[in-house]
Amino acid sequence: MTHGDDTIAAIATGAGAAGVGAVRVSGPLAPVIAAAFLGREPKARHAHFAAFRDAGGELIDRGLLISFPGPASYTGEHVLELQGHGSAVLLDALLRRCIELGARLARPGEFTERAFLNGKLDLAQAEAVADVVAATSEVGARAALRSMEGVFSARVDDLLAELIGLRVHIEAAIDFPEEEIDFLANPVIGAQLHTLRENLDALLVETRRGVRLNDGIAVAIIGRPNAGKSSLMNALAGEDRAIVTDIAGTTRDVLRESISIDGATLELADTAGLRESDDVVEKEGIRRARAQLARCDVALLITDEQHVTEDLGLFDGTQTHATRIVVINKIDLAHVEARRESSGAHDTLWLSALTGDGVDALRTILKDLATAGAGDGAFSARRRHVVALEVVRDHLSRTADALHGSHAGELAAEELRHAQQALGEITGTYSSDDLLGAVFSSFCIGK
Ligand code: GDP
Repeated sequence: MTHGDDTIAAIATGAGAAGVGAVRVSGPLAPVIAAAFLGREPKARHAHFAAFRDAGGELIDRGLLISFPGPASYTGEHVLELQGHGSAVLLDALLRRCIELGARLARPGEFTERAFLNGKLDLAQAEAVADVVAATSEVGARAALRSMEGVFSARVDDLLAELIGLRVHIEAAIDFPEEEIDFLANPVIGAQLHTLRENLDALLVETRRGVRLNDGIAVAIIGRPNAGKSSLMNALAGEDRAIVTDIAGTTRDVLRESISIDGATLELADTAGLRESDDVVEKEGIRRARAQLARCDVALLITDEQHVTEDLGLFDGTQTHATRIVVINKIDLAHVEARRESSGAHDTLWLSALTGDGVDALRTILKDLATAGAGDGAFSARRRHVVALEVVRDHLSRTADALHGSHAGELAAEELRHAQQALGEITGTYSSDDLLGAVFSSFCIGK
């Protein structure tokens, strides 16, 4: 099966690797273009040394020509790869020649989109291709590779199979209304649903970790005005980016900064002080800060020796699953040593954002949090996947409620149908054109 009647071509360059480049062609004309360059039929999956010539017979470049007849190719169609010396000028000339021979320029992600449409990859694997290319850290790249290999998709498929099994049971009950009540009261159904929910929760935890491996961790820096939030952010980032001033309440907007610590990505958000305020603008800042705290992975509370007890109250009143770290800043003024203490609820670090004393210890903690669980088969994931799993979780919770009420069978079946749909969106079993457009347009050309 093929989805492209036309043949596409693009330059595929290794990200950042100057000098490595190829022209990639996919579609029915790929063998014709191959024969035009080689002067004969190429052998399948064989590296031919060829002279790439333009229409007038002038040499463009010499290099390797590899033909991958469909369906045993990346896209599932006939694919051709021309590897030249990699100069951008030569690659352009080679691409132009392919277009003269009947190909058209590929859109970003179109090769992978065709692979998806031809069933070579599912949607989560296709997204992982882009994530492998975009990875900025080794742990991130390794996790994305696992998703590309289908580790995450296999987990989703297992869950889907369990869910369908349960659906079959419940749909069967609806077909026999006189026995429905007894049928649904069967402990097997309750047990199946219970296991399904447990497995979903476990996958959700791993998927959230996958997002962290892909995107880095979101670190919210909170604290009263002048606590030293901007200074600490600068000390961590190593560059003067956030505005540092003595006037309380300057950090009204949430300032974002992304930094990389030994390959682990940290997204910092410098927020307004969380103190209560009558100032309208500042109130808005506090509202945003609270929102930030609710969705961050790590909350850094910045305070000092005098305010620590009072400031710990800033954590109250905000729902967050974030790991909490309390930073007691300005130790240079208090004349105390940099140190670290752990209690059950949080770690406490004494440091100076100004002198940099103790900042490395914080960096280490953040790096460890960003790469936590990166070993043992961890896969990468996207926020979209987490959202889908959360929707599934809500439907399963409503399924459990439905089983105890009237019209139990129909209501439960309806919830499970929605759950299956949301789960199917992850791998693209169910997918709208909008979703596909959003996924593939974020690719680079040639992938
Ligand atoms: P924010 O309002 O929480 O972002 O605080 P700033 O980072 O703007 O810092 C407020 C003031 O405290 C500035 O004058 C900083 O130079 C000063 N400051 C921040 N950290 C330290 C520190 O560790 N030691 C000392 N002595 N001053 C600091």
